[in-house]
Amino acid sequence: MQQLLDRMKKDGIIIDDNILKVDTFLNHKVDPKLMKKIGQEFINRFKDSYITKILTIESSGISPALFTAYDLDVDMVFARKKKSLTMSDDVYQTEVFSYTKKETNNLIVSKNLINSDDNVLVIDDFLANGEAAKSLANIIEQAGANLIGFGIVIEKTFQSGREKLNHEGYRVESLARIKSIEKGNVYFY
Ligand code: 5GP
Repeated sequence: MQQLLDRMKKDGIIIDDNILKVDTFLNHKVDPKLMKKIGQEFINRFKDSYITKILTIESSGISPALFTAYDLDVDMVFARKKKSLTMSDDVYQTEVFSYTKKETNNLIVSKNLINSDDNVLVIDDFLANGEAAKSLANIIEQAGANLIGFGIVIEKTFQSGREKLNHEGYRVESLARIKSIEKGNVYFY
């Protein structure tokens, strides 16, 4: 997706050889016009699928997920990392290792929000080693719902996420694919 690539080239900051900071349009400040285009592109990529729900993980997945859900006219659910006081105990729960925070969190979704009739598209901001994606797949499995696939805004192909997900038979569509981050440069496909 050219507009996304241009923005990453313009505003992306390399934190080390593995992490790209995109805080000015996706991870902290959010560009709604770009998010709208991202949502439309995900819908285009998955137009052959019947989707009833979008699932993401707080917090950075929420913006692209919400724009996708809005244009698809379906609801968006985000998995929480901490149980809120307003949630009942009737939850799907698993663990997720955070690539950027290097800590393990719970991942929690109320059972009444996803059920076995749902066809779920997972949206997330980055795919690195696939930990977040696998945990979201686990939640969908607990719900007995159908997992359509993964829509990823930025995939780092030099890490193992796609391989793991494809190995499980999951479909992965990413809008920008980073080949490598080396010596202060980002190389794209
Ligand atoms: P994974 O679970 O696939 O190992 O890592 C994906 C998650 O870690 C994403 O949800 C994202 O929040 C975070 N992440 C992984 N790599 C990067 C990166 O290069 N930049 C940023 N900003 N977040 C990343």
